[in-house]
Amino acid sequence: MAKEDYYKLLGVDRNASDAEIKKSYRRMAMKFHPDRNKDNPDEAEVKFKQIKEAYEVLSDPKKRSAYDQFGHAGVDASMGGGPGGFGGGFSGESFSDVFGDVFGDIFGGGGRARGGAQRGADLRYNLELTLEEAVGGTEAKIRVPVMVVCDECHGSGARKGSSPVTCSTCHGHGQVRMQQGFFSVQQTCPTCGGTGKQIKDPCRKCHGQGRVQDTKTLSVKVPPGVDTGDRIRLSGEGEAGKGGGPAGDLYVQVHVKDHPIFTRDGANLYCEVPISFPTACLGGELEVPTLNGRVKLKIPAETQTGKLFRLRGKGVKPVRGGAVGDLLCRVQIETPVHLTKEQKEMVEKLGESLTGGGKQHSPQEHSWMDGVKSFFDKLTG
Ligand SMILES: [Zn+2]
Ligand SMILES: [Zn+2]
Repeated sequence: MAKEDYYKLLGVDRNASDAEIKKSYRRMAMKFHPDRNKDNPDEAEVKFKQIKEAYEVLSDPKKRSAYDQFGHAGVDASMGGGPGGFGGGFSGESFSDVFGDVFGDIFGGGGRARGGAQRGADLRYNLELTLEEAVGGTEAKIRVPVMVVCDECHGSGARKGSSPVTCSTCHGHGQVRMQQGFFSVQQTCPTCGGTGKQIKDPCRKCHGQGRVQDTKTLSVKVPPGVDTGDRIRLSGEGEAGKGGGPAGDLYVQVHVKDHPIFTRDGANLYCEVPISFPTACLGGELEVPTLNGRVKLKIPAETQTGKLFRLRGKGVKPVRGGAVGDLLCRVQIETPVHLTKEQKEMVEKLGESLTGGGKQHSPQEHSWMDGVKSFFDKLTG
């Protein structure tokens, strides 16, 4: 099923402010809430989930900018879900907070999983590689700042030797029932925030959060053939979850640095090769660099500047499979410099010989001159 545009789903402009998005989300979610659509609950539920998902992305500045740039592809992977998008991997952190804020948890539970467990946030790391590393593959060591489970309290948030106690307000349910107008509504317990537990004596290291800031060193296997824009997902290497929730993922975003000799376009490599004027005239052989050493390139006689020579299979093997690309060498004929008196005389002689004799030695000149002539004819005519 092709996904609908998130902005369209929420009925807002692409440049809508956060407040506009929130307001529209509230209106749409109320409209399609399954409890208010008893005639057509299934359809309403699908719509409701789509709206929830759209809001989850557009209310998060990072996800919104990823969505603006890459569309659904930019945010789907970070949602962790398979087909259907939302589900077990739904990262509910920012969502449930805002959701609770908008609705006062009127629908009960919100995006928060049982027992207050929350999945950790996904992280992104920008990895710079040389062209050689990207083409040949490498193992990169990276240091990433992460929230990890506190080793003092093992994530419980309670001081060593003590443990969290059952919440006295909700008796461990995490939810309380309240009368609100004609609604009887479930609300997240205000005392324990939905965890069902209270920490009487917080851990000194993490101040009851259960998580602490740390850096960790990871070894990333970069497969051969990656290119700028590719990303490598390290499952479970993102931030630690809260309340026993699963960790998020770490996305390593590849950026390939410019190379002094080669430029890359997909599987093909390009390079410029200077050749001398005599080699261009008479032909010859020269050595050109490839990523795996030098190879010989035959230059035929009367080669023109800018001609592209293809060295098959000397390009890049794409990371997603497919044929190995080619190396394309563009020759650049060099005009000789620092000529001696004698050399200048020889060039003069060569010039006279080339213009005399009635033979056509300049392949471009005639068509170019004709073009110029008709251009002027049009101007004056
Ligand atoms: Zn702790
Ligand atoms: Zn409670």
